[in-house]
Amino acid sequence: MGVPSVRAEAGRRRPEVPPGGVLPRRRIAAVAAALAALLAGSAAAAPPDPLLAPRLDARAAVRERPGMWIGASVARGERAVVVGSPRRLVAEIAALADRAGRTVTRVWGGYGGAVVLVPRTEEQAAVLAAPAKVDGLAAVATGGRVIVQPAAFARLSATGRMVVVTHELTHVATAGPPTVPMWLMEGFADYVGYLDSGLPVRTIAAELAADVAADGTTDGTTDGTADGAAGTAALNALPGPADFAARPAQAYEEAWLACRYIAARFGERRLVALYRATLREGIGPALREVLGLTADGLTREWRSYAHERLARP
Ligand SMILES: [Zn+2]
Repeated sequence: MGVPSVRAEAGRRRPEVPPGGVLPRRRIAAVAAALAALLAGSAAAAPPDPLLAPRLDARAAVRERPGMWIGASVARGERAVVVGSPRRLVAEIAALADRAGRTVTRVWGGYGGAVVLVPRTEEQAAVLAAPAKVDGLAAVATGGRVIVQPAAFARLSATGRMVVVTHELTHVATAGPPTVPMWLMEGFADYVGYLDSGLPVRTIAAELAADVAADGTTDGTTDGTADGAAGTAALNALPGPADFAARPAQAYEEAWLACRYIAARFGERRLVALYRATLREGIGPALREVLGLTADGLTREWRSYAHERLARP
């Protein structure tokens, strides 16, 4: 039994649902004012306040739906502001976000901080995340915010929670134009997420290992493409959106192994350089420039690395 699945989509737009709520307007205003005070900076704070941007965004999030945050508490971390309930979970997530933030900074090189929203119910999480989907996910990153789905998050082990928070903060840190293919976006978030987990490959990629073992006839010569035709066989092609929809566990694991392969062969700095170059100019030129590989070449090398690592006891 490994870490429960850590699955999240990175949505790109802010939710546009107007603030709702059935509470009296005066009470809502009072809640918003109380949380706004908690989220305000000290007047004496020095100008380079690393929490300024997340604090302002947390305040905006509370004002968008004040009725959702009655009785909520606020925890400030080094680079993250966490709003929600219950108080103990909010404090725990702030501590996780500090550790995750240090990992993200070590690998990626710093980011502008994040807001983590911890609503009480799955329905509220869905409203906050829209148009991104939270079904079956423990958390989702969208528009610089991380939305926790409380029921799914509660089911995670301590390691699973660490992986999820690190994965989501990686999405926040690396957000940019939609030039990054899904295998690189999700694979990199899982690469950073699992980095300090201490878990073996066959635990993290348990579903994929099972498929590969069952599909012993895969000969590694399939002519895969990197742009997302949904292959039914394990390790057929670098996974695209159709794979993430049809066989999510295996697709995340394939994506993670692709990034792990790149880091193992070229070094972690080149993996980061590949991501940054892909943000600028797309995956094709970035692969050639940073790794000297074509998509087909990477696919072949990833497939053989993954077969070898998944076969090890
Ligand atoms: Zn993700």
